Formats: sequence, C-alpha cells, structure tokens
Amino acid sequence: MTAEAEWDVVVIGAGIIGAACAWRLAERGLRVRVLEQGSPTGGSTGKSAAGVRAQFATDSNILLSKRSIEEYAAMPASGYRPAGYLMLVPQGQWEAHLTGVERQHAHGVPTEVLTPAQAQRHASFETNGLGGCTFGPTDGFVDPHGLTFEYVRLAREAGACFSLNTPVTAITREGDRWRVTTPTGEVEAPQVLNAAGAWSGEVAALAGLEVPVGPARRMVFTTGPLNLLRPLPMVFDLESGVWLRSEGERLILGRADEADVGWREGMNWAWLEPTLDRALERFPWLETASLDRRASWWGYYEVTPDHQPVVGRMPGVDGWLNACGFSGHGVMQAAAVARVIAQEALGEAPFIDISPLRYERFTAGALLSPDIQV
Ligand SMILES: Cc1cc2nc3c(=O)[nH]c(=O)nc-3n(C[C@H](O)[C@H](O)[C@H](O)COP(=O)(O)OP(=O)(O)OC[C@H]3O[C@@H](n4cnc5c(N)ncnc54)[C@H](O)[C@@H]3O)c2cc1C
Repeated sequence: MTAEAEWDVVVIGAGIIGAACAWRLAERGLRVRVLEQGSPTGGSTGKSAAGVRAQFATDSNILLSKRSIEEYAAMPASGYRPAGYLMLVPQGQWEAHLTGVERQHAHGVPTEVLTPAQAQRHASFETNGLGGCTFGPTDGFVDPHGLTFEYVRLAREAGACFSLNTPVTAITREGDRWRVTTPTGEVEAPQVLNAAGAWSGEVAALAGLEVPVGPARRMVFTTGPLNLLRPLPMVFDLESGVWLRSEGERLILGRADEADVGWREGMNWAWLEPTLDRALERFPWLETASLDRRASWWGYYEVTPDHQPVVGRMPGVDGWLNACGFSGHGVMQAAAVARVIAQEALGEAPFIDISPLRYERFTAGALLSPDIQV
C-alpha cells in the first residue's frame, strides 16, 4: 500500500483539542490531515460539564483559560455564557487560594474576593468551615459540541482534511517522517500531533513512546426540574469536592471519585449516595430535589499524574507533538492551546509560557499538582 505523503501534520483525534489545533495549524499554512476513530464529540468533549474558568493557581493555566475564554466570547458558535464560577474555600486552603487570586489579578482576571455572607447573593449554602469565597464573573459555560464542530468547519475551510470513523492502529518512524496506519490506508507526515484525549497514552504506545495519560471515569448527576429563584453559577465546594450548576430548570452536579481510574464503563450509581451526603452538608436545600437518572451521564477525564496537560514537542522524538491529558480542563483551554501547538509545529516560541506543561517535567520528577482540582 502506498502512503499518502502530501501532509505536514497528522492530527490524531478530532475532539475539541484536535479540531481546534487542526484549524490553527491549517490557518498557518500547514497541510493537515486529521484521523478520528469515531466522531468529533464522541470522546470526552461531548461528555463535558462545559464549564470555563480562569480561576487557577498557576500562570500557565490562568493564561491558557483566560485567552480561550476571550476567544469563546467572540465566537457566537461557542454558546459562551458568563454565568460565573463561585469557589467555596475552606479555612485551611484560604491563604493559598488568595495567592492564586493575586496571580489571576496580575493577569487581568477579574476574580472577586467575597465573604461567605456576600457570596450568598450568588447561591445559598452553609458557611461552616469556610475561610472565604471567590467569584469569577467572566467564568461560565460554553457549548462544547457547537465549538468543536465550528473548529472542524474552520479547519476544513483552511484546507484541513478530516477522516472520521478512522482509527489509528499503528505508527512507525520511516526516515524523517511518521507513517500512520489506519484500516483504510497509510498517511505520512514529518509531524504527528497526539490529541487523542484519554486514549493518548495508548496512541503514543503505538509509536513506542510513553505519554502518561489515562482514563478516569467522572459522573454527572442531573436533577429533575426545580423552582430555583435564580439560576446557579458553577459552584464548587473545595472541601467536599462537590460541584453543581444550573442547566435550564435543572441542576447538574458531581464529585470526583479519585479511585475510579481505568476503562470503566457506565454510571457507577454507588457513587450517588456518598456524593449526595457531602452535597447536603453544604447545600441542605437539595433535600427536595429529585434525580433524573436518564438525564445523568458519565465520561472519561484524561488524566496525568499531576493533573496538568502535556503540551508541546516530545523531547528527543523528532516531529512528535502532544496536546493531551487536560485532566478535566480541555474545553476551557482548547482555543489557546491550539495557537501554542501551531507555534510549536512551526518552530516558534509559544505566546504563553508552557514550560510547566511540557513533557520534560515527568523526567524532572516534580509531579505535585499546584492547581485547584475540580
Ligand atoms: C463528566 C465530565 C465533565 C467535564 N467537565 C469539563 C468542564 O466543565 N470544563 C472543561 O474544560 N472540561 C471538562 N471536562 C474535560 C473535557 O471534556 C476534556 O478535557 C476535553 O474534552 C478533552 O478534549 P480532547 O479533544 O483532548 O479529548 P476527546 O474529546 O476525548 O477527543 C479525543 C479524540 O481522540 C479520538 N481517538 C482516540 N484514539 C484514537 C485512535 N487510535 N485513532 C483515532 N482517533 C482516536 C477519540 O475518538 C476522541 O474523539 C469534563 C470531562 C468529563 C468526562
């Protein structure tokens, strides 16, 4: 079989990250071929809770999110709604949290510092044990489906070629090119972008590379319709890990089960009760809510050991780029990551310093996460 050889970059995965990168790569004049084993929103992107926030503790995450939110605000297809993120911060974390807020302010993110009493204007909650609250007025939600298909459209318009239902099954290095095999043929290019979400570790392994990204199941529980006086922004109780927000007349809520790693499928209903127990401590008014099991869903976070993405060139491996392992933040950072990846592919310095997100950190051994994990 003769390999197609007219491409500059093969992008593996057409979720929000692969689609956005395909657009920015093609826009910069590169010939881009995208291989997707299913459909663009069939992976984590279509399962997301759709939140976007710039309330992070590290410069790289603050800047990737801030820049992405600004781009979403200017894109009608994104469905951006600045409904806000309210963080309920326990006393023991408050001081460290304020250091993050200082960083956010330094980057122009308008995070508001509130007492628990002041924060009651956004949501009703028990205040015991809280050191304070922060509210991000430009944080909010987007439509991950609308955004991803808009990126696919823009990428195609810029010349990128997408093959859906086309799984990558083998990857080899042939001279100065990568040869990527699918059931329908082979594609060659000097550069490959690994944007395969939770599958990125497996895709890298096809090329004999180790990229520490794997799946962790997350559940989203949906209530029946509620008569709330006002819609709720995204509210995170950092003590319990419970988050909730309005979705139309309903609420969606969740809480990470850190032990739920690997390719586990379906809803784990056993996680509902411990989640509700913790949620009721902070939000006792939830007692009257009913659960809509059929409207609840699950999906995979694509996690790394430090819950930070792997972005940029793979050290020591010619032409291999990673944009994966967003650990629950991929929707909120895709727009800026796509620009960074185009710059990497062209050998330019990224416009946001991604040093803390580069693969090299795994070999340096510093894997403690400095950021809010929600
Ligand atoms: C329940 C839940 C809630 C979330 N909430 C949020 C949130 O509020 N905000 C936020 O920013 N993020 C959230 N996330 C995380 C977010 O969904 C991800 O970070 C983001 O979608 C990652 O995008 P991606 O393109 O990297 O991955 P994906 O969307 O998974 O795309 C990867 C693609 O690669 C394809 N692929 C895999 N292997 C191969 C192969 N061998 N050949 C070809 N194609 C392949 C897959 O089919 C898939 O389409 C949430 C995730 C879940 C599960």
